[in-house]
Amino acid sequence: MGRISHRLTIRRRDFLRQGGIGLAVGAAGSLLAGCSSQSTEKGSAPSPTQPFDGKTILTFYIDDTNPYTAGADAFKEFLDFAAAHQLGGESSVILGYNWEDHGLLSNPSTDEQRSYIEQAKRAYDCGIDTHMELMTHSGLFDFDTGQVSDGAQHEGVWLHEPEVSQDQYEAYFRGILDEGDKIDIRFTGVTWPGCGCDACELRYSELMQGGGVKVNPNLWKALLNLASEGRFRGETVPCFVLGGLEEHALAAMASEGKYGVYDLYPHVDDFFGIWDNLPERVNADTYISADGTSGRIVEKINAGASHCVLYGHWQGLNPATGVGWDAFKTVVQRLESHYPDRILWMRPSALTDLVHQGDLIPSQPVPASDA
Ligand SMILES: [Zn+2]
Ligand SMILES: [Zn+2]
Repeated sequence: MGRISHRLTIRRRDFLRQGGIGLAVGAAGSLLAGCSSQSTEKGSAPSPTQPFDGKTILTFYIDDTNPYTAGADAFKEFLDFAAAHQLGGESSVILGYNWEDHGLLSNPSTDEQRSYIEQAKRAYDCGIDTHMELMTHSGLFDFDTGQVSDGAQHEGVWLHEPEVSQDQYEAYFRGILDEGDKIDIRFTGVTWPGCGCDACELRYSELMQGGGVKVNPNLWKALLNLASEGRFRGETVPCFVLGGLEEHALAAMASEGKYGVYDLYPHVDDFFGIWDNLPERVNADTYISADGTSGRIVEKINAGASHCVLYGHWQGLNPATGVGWDAFKTVVQRLESHYPDRILWMRPSALTDLVHQGDLIPSQPVPASDA
């Protein structure tokens, strides 16, 4: 236990189908043109009257990013591509990923880890947000002892435990943020770490029988508190935590003044190879066909949707070993050739900033043609 493996990554959609838990995907707009090292400021939002009228904001989440599945060079290649195409999206940083084998990224011991951290610090300037997928994507980390205790509950299901207090959530997330500070990694949001291990499945089924699997609302309050302390990079915190098969409108889960915590939901399943890096789960046409006339993104554009959120996994999407990398590039290039004036890539946190400031009204869900 304590290890992260592909096997432990629950099939998110299957899980949602069974458990009624929703997904939230968000991407933040990359209003920055590139990723020169000097610009570390937040991308400035356009004025309310311009320029996204008539455009669909696109964004994406990449789950499970780490330097062990594919190394720092692969992450650099991804970031260079994002910058060159002015993409906006998100990629997880999981400080304790496979900590038993590799230690913590916040206490790097190898050149590969250090190189990865340098890239992760550069990501924001390439239009890419950084979500914590909690500390380990596995067992709850004990920040006092610096390890996961035997038998510790896994982090994902812990977000659904009804008895956890706001203080407990806040202390745990503060621990992750403190670890990030050690290496100058600033988090923008939170992604739920899926897990299909026996213990998690058992607990989820118990929760279902006890009235349903719901995210504990204390989570949102804890995140709002940390945001208002300036612990997240921005004032709004996009979350890919809720779930459900149906699309739902982007929603504020907690809000106070200029701070807000948002559920930002994905609109397209992962057809970039998923966590198992499966060739049969690669299909660019799902997003946009070669002639640009069909696909989920095309549906959203044609419906005048305010935004469309994609997601993938580092196992399938990375440029070194991912079977979905070419498909990802193909989707970007098809969008560029067919809809250059109808889309605007944006990082998730920029999208939630716009909504929070009242500069963008999220559109209602657009049913998928194959739903
Ligand atoms: Zn994950
Ligand atoms: Zn588990």
